Amino acid sequence: MDKINIFKEILKRKIKSDIIYRDFFVTAFNDINPVAPIHIILIPNNYIKNINNVNNSDIFILGKMLLVCSKIAKYKNIDISGYRLVINCNKDSGQEIDYFHIHILGGKFLGNFICNI
Ligand code: AMP
Repeated sequence: MDKINIFKEILKRKIKSDIIYRDFFVTAFNDINPVAPIHIILIPNNYIKNINNVNNSDIFILGKMLLVCSKIAKYKNIDISGYRLVINCNKDSGQEIDYFHIHILGGKFLGNFICNI
């Protein structure tokens, strides 16, 4: 049997989540284990495994996702203070869930990410 994909279950509302935004193309919900005061996960409604699996037909959804990130940042009042968008891909990034997603992180000083690697 296939492993349960938590984000697919969230979309089908079979797993409870704190959805903060949804439209025809994307869904955003609060991360269950936040690492910052604001930690939101944004996913496309149509399944994409990870960034390795995108092609020309995904150009619209990728742009749409960045647009929604900026709208959520404004809505959450972190657009001026600042925020970070994170996309993990496969093992070395620590990607836990095989469903393409963007982390939106903010609400505190996040430090210099590149220097912390
Ligand atoms: P990643 O390591 O990029 O795959 O990130 C997966 C993220 O999903 C982690 O930050 C988890 O805390 C988060 N997560 C896992 N299960 C849930 C859930 N049921 N609801 C919301 N976020 C979740």
